[in-house]
Amino acid sequence: MIKADDISLDDELMGAQQDRPDKPEEACGVFGVYAPGEDVAKMTYFGLFALQHRGQEAAGIATFSHQGATLYKDMGLVTRVFNEEILQGLKGDWAVGHTRYSTTGSSRVVNAQPVLVDTPKGQIALAHNGNLVNTDALRQALLKRNHAFVSTTDSEMIALLMGDAVKDGMGWIDAAIDAAKCSDGAFSLVIGTPEGVIGLRDPYGVRPLVIGVLPHEDHSKLPHYVLASETCALDILGAEYLRDVEPGELVWIDESGLTSRRWSDAKSRKLCVFEMIYFARPDSLMHEESLYSYRMRIGRQLAKESTTDADIVIAVPDSGIPAAIGYSQVSGIPYAEGLIKNRYVGRTFIQPTQSMREMGIRMKLNPLKDVLQGKRVIIVDDSIVRGTTSRKIVKALRDAGATEVHMRISSPPVTHPCFYGIDTDNQDQLIAATKSVAEIAEQIGVDSLAYLSWAGMLKSTMQPTENFCSACFTGDYPIEIPDSIRRSKLILEAATVG
Ligand code: SF4
Repeated sequence: MIKADDISLDDELMGAQQDRPDKPEEACGVFGVYAPGEDVAKMTYFGLFALQHRGQEAAGIATFSHQGATLYKDMGLVTRVFNEEILQGLKGDWAVGHTRYSTTGSSRVVNAQPVLVDTPKGQIALAHNGNLVNTDALRQALLKRNHAFVSTTDSEMIALLMGDAVKDGMGWIDAAIDAAKCSDGAFSLVIGTPEGVIGLRDPYGVRPLVIGVLPHEDHSKLPHYVLASETCALDILGAEYLRDVEPGELVWIDESGLTSRRWSDAKSRKLCVFEMIYFARPDSLMHEESLYSYRMRIGRQLAKESTTDADIVIAVPDSGIPAAIGYSQVSGIPYAEGLIKNRYVGRTFIQPTQSMREMGIRMKLNPLKDVLQGKRVIIVDDSIVRGTTSRKIVKALRDAGATEVHMRISSPPVTHPCFYGIDTDNQDQLIAATKSVAEIAEQIGVDSLAYLSWAGMLKSTMQPTENFCSACFTGDYPIEIPDSIRRSKLILEAATVG
């Protein structure tokens, strides 16, 4: 994840800002596998392919054997970065990989991961999902020790801290714990070392990290393990979900199998609730059920809280679909497909022309006129961040003949920025930070607008409320944010909050 000193690329930033999706964006997927005798590079490739939704700007794989490490990383989608020839050059018995979404202005290959760092005992490769909040202090400490930074990421700082601890004589596990103890914020890490793979989660478990076991028929041998941000990356390899890496836990995987060390006192869990609502893939498991089921449940809760008369319920595809189906089930209003998504539109290096941009959202979403014509429509989406896309969608529905458009959002208003690895803009760009629900409804041009309540969102998780971070809806940040970082994203307290 990128820090403030990336802002030197202002031009790039302006261009990218214009085309950014109107959604909070995930900042990384991590993956690791320990499987001597298997094609670990290819396994990591498929793992990253399954985690592509967590980051589309860069991808990398580092493979290891007792002879050393090999790394390949570049800008672009996993399928663009790697081909058969590159994967064949990545030899080893264990591997770590990373898919990256960068905040604007930082789309440079030096910031791609895994981060490779030399230590006196060999190289380590670190893949990070999350965001540290004490980077100023860490940077100063590392500069005092004469480190030169290759990238502008906080992830490199963790890797350098670990390298220093190895230099001081620590083993791999203690060195990783030493680096983790210096780090504040959100971090799910997968680290390749010359002897095995580490999985480690911050004390609050803000970002997910799961352990899987690869299928093995010879039960006289130890099983091979996989680490991944989400269970969908286990499924693609046929691996069985074993359990989560617990908040404040380190797992070490080597030729002796898997061992666990608790490196931090148990704190209250604070899984990012936005993982549940939107970020993670609907086919991933969290709390032992698919997120598809949770998202249908929040749709049902939304219908209980804010029903209205209409002819059809439609979704903003794909992420709004389960909630729209849940809404339809409780309201009794039929579910229909009103918008067709072009599934091949992603982040691209070929930008549309200005006139094409003005055509609105139709490159991504095309309304079905015969479904919408003359209908009162309820459209369900998972969140509104800046409101720019919502306005275009509503206009497209009306142009296609909808007589009324009622928007229902399956999360509460996003009023605060995220400091833990999600790009939710500065606070003054969040529409709900400065406008009331009625003002937002007017701005996006709907007949009515309602959000899911905060209590309804958390009740639907069927887990204790205190197990989640929901700071972007409340401003109640579970991990303290230093003032220097807060100021960069928060607007003045005096601002009106709707
Ligand atoms: S602030 Fe919001 S996006 Fe960030 S970790 Fe908390 S719930 Fe997730």
